[in-house]
Parts: sequence; structure tokens; C-alpha cells
Amino acid sequence: MNIIMLGAPGTGKGTISAILSEKLGIPQVSTGDIFRKNIKEGTELGKLADSYISKGQLVPDEVTVKIVEDRLNQEDAQNGVILDGFPRTIVQADKLKEILETKGKKVDITINLTTPEEEIIERIVNRRVCSNQECKTVYNIVLNPPKVEGICDKCGCELITRKDDKIETVKNRLEQYFETTSPLVEYYEKEGILFSAVVSKSINKLGPDVAKDILEHLKSMKTI
Ligand code: ADP
Repeated sequence: MNIIMLGAPGTGKGTISAILSEKLGIPQVSTGDIFRKNIKEGTELGKLADSYISKGQLVPDEVTVKIVEDRLNQEDAQNGVILDGFPRTIVQADKLKEILETKGKKVDITINLTTPEEEIIERIVNRRVCSNQECKTVYNIVLNPPKVEGICDKCGCELITRKDDKIETVKNRLEQYFETTSPLVEYYEKEGILFSAVVSKSINKLGPDVAKDILEHLKSMKTI
């Protein structure tokens, strides 16, 4: 099954994708994580991606599509993937359709996450991530703090703040989302494969609760 996670930065795409990946036994493919890994390793792709990501802009479509295409060709992606943060433009969505079609596959469901904007900003500013690339656990220093400040509960590595989680950059990222990415909601709604969910503390629904709702929905669709 191929699942797309759609939603503005800070809505919980990564957290929910990780839960779904574990429960469904299919890999999480996060373009943001692939870029960050390359930035850390100082590759050419990393240098190019960093010049966009640090300004809160999208990495160009041709670069992003190519890395996703390569990832989808790998062995472990053949039974399906959870695409976390891809597609983010109509061009990317059209290309994804083409890539999957050549493999006789399709997007089965697109999860559209929404969160009130003030909560998004608060959440991103309080976000800390594990610096260990193999772990990448995400914390919120208010809602879901680690047991020991600055240290990952799971692997003991240092927690860091993502460079693009600065308030000025977050504002650009949100603007980019509403201008360029949000039209994909209608795109997938028209295809009849959109499932929307609100992630908000105001209704007592955070990432893990929404992940449960999504799994229930997939069961009711008889897709799992
Ligand atoms: P978030 O959803 O919190 O913004 P991501 O880790 O998904 O975080 O993405 C971080 C950054 O990586 C984005 O702001 C963007 O610059 C870049 N990026 C990730 N995915 C894509 C994509 N599909 N197309 C273009 N740029 C992307």
C-alpha cells in the first residue's frame, strides 16, 4: 500500500508516519530526512538542498523527484511506502503518478493533517530531534519531553533543534505550504483518496491518537 502524508510543517507527519510504518511494516520515506542526512554528510545533494531548506524554500522538483524515484526502486519499497513530505507540488504529484504507474501501482490513500496555525508555531519552536540519524525520535519539550533534558530516551544521543525550526524560517515554510502544497488537498480529493484528520491538543488528538484513527480507517476500507 502506498500512503501519502500531506500537511503543513509541524502537523505531525513524521510522528504519525513512524507509527504507521511500524504497524504496517512498510518503510517511511521522508524527503526531509533524506536531505538532512545528505546535509550532515556534506554531499553535493546536501549542499544544494541546504541552500533552499535553510531559507524555508522548497528544493527544486527535478532534484526531489529523482531521489524519490531512486528510493522507490529499492527492494524494501516494493510492498508499499509511506511518503512523508512528498509530493509537495502538483508537478511532483503528477510525476509520482507516472512513476507508480510504470510499476503497475498507485497512491492508495492520502492523509491530510491539519492543525491550527498558532499551535503549529508553538509545536515547531518546542520541537527537538534526536541527532542520531538512525533514531531521529522527535520530542516536544512541553508536551512530550525527554526523561533527561537534551538526551534521547531511546538511544541516549544528544537532542538538537533543526536549523529550519527558527521562527523566521517557519513562517516561510508555512507560506510555501499554503501557496504551493495545499492545492494537493483538492488534487487527491478529486481522486477520491483523501482522508483528513485534525491534530490538535484543543480536541485532545495528538499524533499517536490520529495514527490509531488512520489505522481504523484503513481497516474499515479493508486495505489492511
Ligand atoms: P516539515 O514538514 O516540518 O517542513 P520536512 O522534513 O518534511 O519538514 O522538510 C524539511 C524541508 O525539506 C522543507 O522545508 C523543504 O525545504 C525540503 N523538502 C522536503 N520535502 C520536499 C519536497 N517534497 N519538495 C521540495 N522540498 C522538500
